[in-house]
Amino acid sequence: MRRSIQWTLQLWHAGLLAVVLIGFGTASYFGISRSRFQQLDTELERSVQLLAAGFIPPKLPDSPSGELSTNSAGGPPRHPWDGLPAPEFQLPAALVPRFAADQPESDYYVIWDHDGRVIQASGSRAGADVPYPGARPEWTAGPPAPGPPQIRSRGAFQEAFVNGPLWTRVLIGTPTRPVQLELRRVACLLAAIGAGVLVIGLVGGWLVSLRAVKPIRAITEVAQEISASNLSRRIEAAEVQSELGSLAAVLNEMFARLEAAFQHQVRFTADASHELRTPLSVIHTHVQLALSRERSAEEFRKTLETCLRASGRMKDLVDSLLLLAGADAGRLTLRRERLDFRTTVEGCIAMVAPLAEAKGVVVETELRAAELAADPSRMAQVTTNLLTNAIRYNRKGGNIRVSLDADGRCAVLTITDTGLGIPVENQPHIFERFYRVDKARSREEGGSGLGLAICKTIVEAHGGTITFHSVVGQGTTFVVRLPLADLTATA
Ligand code: ADP
Repeated sequence: MRRSIQWTLQLWHAGLLAVVLIGFGTASYFGISRSRFQQLDTELERSVQLLAAGFIPPKLPDSPSGELSTNSAGGPPRHPWDGLPAPEFQLPAALVPRFAADQPESDYYVIWDHDGRVIQASGSRAGADVPYPGARPEWTAGPPAPGPPQIRSRGAFQEAFVNGPLWTRVLIGTPTRPVQLELRRVACLLAAIGAGVLVIGLVGGWLVSLRAVKPIRAITEVAQEISASNLSRRIEAAEVQSELGSLAAVLNEMFARLEAAFQHQVRFTADASHELRTPLSVIHTHVQLALSRERSAEEFRKTLETCLRASGRMKDLVDSLLLLAGADAGRLTLRRERLDFRTTVEGCIAMVAPLAEAKGVVVETELRAAELAADPSRMAQVTTNLLTNAIRYNRKGGNIRVSLDADGRCAVLTITDTGLGIPVENQPHIFERFYRVDKARSREEGGSGLGLAICKTIVEAHGGTITFHSVVGQGTTFVVRLPLADLTATA
């Protein structure tokens, strides 16, 4: 199933936002709850100390020896202060209203004597049956110090207690329900705020993701249009920003390359058809003409010769096209072997000698030995192509200079002619398939416009380079560099 980027973004955004909000809400709730209970405890501690101040200070009898006396009934030892009346207590006026209400959930206080008996308590029902808080003070040589108040939680109540005078203990308690109700309200408020923020965040996120994917949609639409019909259309840079701008640029470059390749393909097919059509028409017309009436054997022979030339030309053309197509598909097979390039060049010069002679072109040579690991027939094809061009596009009675040298790494074949030269504006296209500066002249001379494209393909397949320098009216020099045998990994 195809998952939309926008939905994926939205889901991630919602998930992250929910996690952050839940985390933040939970932390806030526990923080508020802790602080609220601490506040309650502090208030209780303060109140219990205020409550303990309600004792009227008792006058203590001296303990002459401080020793324990024996119980007359033979029981455990008793302290001389045992049996003292509990100290008097008067509820401080500030606290009176606090304990006035008699509700099951109102504040309460309880005071115990040294025996753990309740000697005073608020009338509140909540304060009934409150267990003695903490450990009973020890019956020691003197009453325990008041010490700091202590806190305990008892069911739905929070209590603070402190030592009173003469081993008494004072406790004040308050229900925790109001605080819990308050905290519940806080929780509801936090949940409502969280839900609100989540909704706003999701709507905002949706709008942002909509904005983010809009340029992608625009690019997709244009790309669909381009691939469907019009290869010359481009994605407008104004439609996209940021990283998508670079994506648009990359796609535009790709479309430009596609368009160029497509046009190249169309031109190539048209050119190839046209080139094949010419010799085919020659054959067709001559055969038709020959068959139109009775002919002598001589006339038929002439017709057949013409057809042979035309079919030979077609075969050369098809061979060239097959070679280029194979190279394009990475299937150019080279039968590499060690060869002396000088011998190949000499053989090619001998082969084109009649052509040169017919045009009154003189061929001068300066050839040194250069050993290659190359396909001999392809090397001969390159050399012959260049030599034929040097003769074809030379002036009558012109000159060709062929030199072969080795510079330590490469064999360097240089063919210089004193011909027409190639105009500067045509020079960048000279290696293109079917490209000819002067179509009529090239065709007249038997050229197809594939010679240099084939030379370049073969030379590059051997790891070499082919370059040229040309001046109109003076002539052209082609330079072929090919790696020497010792530097070539023979296949
Ligand atoms: P062609 O079969 O037409 O010679 P090539 O691919 O060999 O095709 O050459 C392409 C074109 O380059 C030629 O048509 C010609 O115009 C130009 N050209 C090639 N070699 C030379 C040269 N030595 N001097 C002048 N023009 C040349």
